Amino acid sequence: MSRLYKTEGVVLRHSYIGEADALITLLTPDRGKLRAVARGAKRPKSRLAGHLEPLTHCRVMLAEGRTLDTVSGCETLESFQRIKSDLWLLSCGLYMVDLADRLSAEGAENRPLFEKLIGALRALAGRVDAGLVLRHFEFHSLATCGYLPELWACVLCHRKLAATTNYFSPAAAGLLCPECKGKEGLDRPASVDCVKVLRFFAQNECSALSRLRLKPRLAREIEDLMQGYVTYVLDRELASARWLRELRSEYSPETVTSGGATDGKGPADSGSD
Ligand SMILES: [Zn+2]
Repeated sequence: MSRLYKTEGVVLRHSYIGEADALITLLTPDRGKLRAVARGAKRPKSRLAGHLEPLTHCRVMLAEGRTLDTVSGCETLESFQRIKSDLWLLSCGLYMVDLADRLSAEGAENRPLFEKLIGALRALAGRVDAGLVLRHFEFHSLATCGYLPELWACVLCHRKLAATTNYFSPAAAGLLCPECKGKEGLDRPASVDCVKVLRFFAQNECSALSRLRLKPRLAREIEDLMQGYVTYVLDRELASARWLRELRSEYSPETVTSGGATDGKGPADSGSD
């Protein structure tokens, strides 16, 4: 008789194996990333199927196996239906779970990452500007893995940064003052407003993001900076990030870059529960 245990998690991935089974990857608060088999989940009448789609927050009962554990019971805690029924929000959600997947290791507990992911999905479902949710999640998911960037003092000379254009260095994990720029390679200018928003991210939960209204140009600057940092840390660009960019080019750049923050008409605001 295999040992049973309970946990909860967000489904990061879901793929079918064989005729009827599914292999799911969950991010849990207490066991880090966890892969398990859901037997019969492909069958239309399976009692597991609807609970194990990507982005679903669920409670699971698992049976320990020799190589992989098996899902023996499952209930949905939050389905995030509003995200799943809107192509733009779904693509944003899938990018976040992809990023969480790449940043986590199986069996390595990272409760803050789980909490940031749940918070970001709630914000995305709760009509907070999607672009801001993504940037805030990038910032904090990297921070939970040891990549919290230094935003107040120059990472090289350690002097307090002045309110002028400074430079962000992914390699040095933080900002460089104008005198130190160019010594680290890959550094890019970070405007005064860009630094202010990054500091706001560092000091606030994503529930506070609704207080921010960014001009499209500033939103794009922060996006380029954060995406550059993510790509540097992962040593690759995620396909889900590329897909988001392609999808956005189908829409008007103004409305989407701002994620609807300026006029309330971006894809982030389309669809409803
Ligand atoms: Zn310096």
